[in-house]
Amino acid sequence: MNTTTMGKEASLDGLEFDGDTVLCRVCGDKASGFHYGVHACEGCKGFFRRSIQQKIQYRPCLKNQQCNIMRVNRNRCQYCRLKKCIAVGMSRDGT
Ligand SMILES: [Zn+2]
Ligand SMILES: [Zn+2]
Repeated sequence: MNTTTMGKEASLDGLEFDGDTVLCRVCGDKASGFHYGVHACEGCKGFFRRSIQQKIQYRPCLKNQQCNIMRVNRNRCQYCRLKKCIAVGMSRDGT
């Protein structure tokens, strides 16, 4: 295998690719597209939309606001999930 002729970059700004699949920047699930400025899955897109539209105040995190948001546990701590959404660059001004 000659890796220098691979046209596609394996990694771009920390994005992880599984073949042609782009992963959600928030939870690592399969991204459904570019939402609010970042690649995100349907779940995180909807979560972020609800959060900003309804201005939801989530219960503060019980773990120093350092939960590791993954697909399997992304619903466990909404506080950290929203924090992660913002940390990865999600913005209401994005599309
Ligand atoms: Zn997600
Ligand atoms: Zn948390």
